[in-house]
Amino acid sequence: MSKQKDTLYSMVMQYDGHPSAEELFLLCKEDNIKMSIATIYRNLNLLVNEGKIAKISIAGHPDRYDSRTDAHVHAICDRCETIEDFNVTGLEEFLRLRTNLDIHSYDLTLHYTCPKCRKKEALHIY
Ligand SMILES: [Zn+2]
Ligand SMILES: [Zn+2]
Repeated sequence: MSKQKDTLYSMVMQYDGHPSAEELFLLCKEDNIKMSIATIYRNLNLLVNEGKIAKISIAGHPDRYDSRTDAHVHAICDRCETIEDFNVTGLEEFLRLRTNLDIHSYDLTLHYTCPKCRKKEALHIY
């Protein structure tokens, strides 16, 4: 692994959540690591292609990266863009039975408004 790729890999692994390339760029800046945003994108794509990390592409949101590469469900708050992981047991089996397809994996994102954002909204309304 190149040093830059190695650095980014450990950053994604240690990140609490699902960082965007921009967030990793800011982290690099904070840590005085010199890496351009283009270099970050290129190395993140390499890591994705190698199956070391996963990319989460959601329409209307910037791409995010995931230290987990196993199938799991994402829930994104459409207001603050926080992504949470969920393990929904039996989902793959359920989908296989319903579709009759020999599914290898799935990619499921739930959209919702998180409790924090709901609270904020409520404060504005009342
Ligand atoms: Zn939220
Ligand atoms: Zn995830």
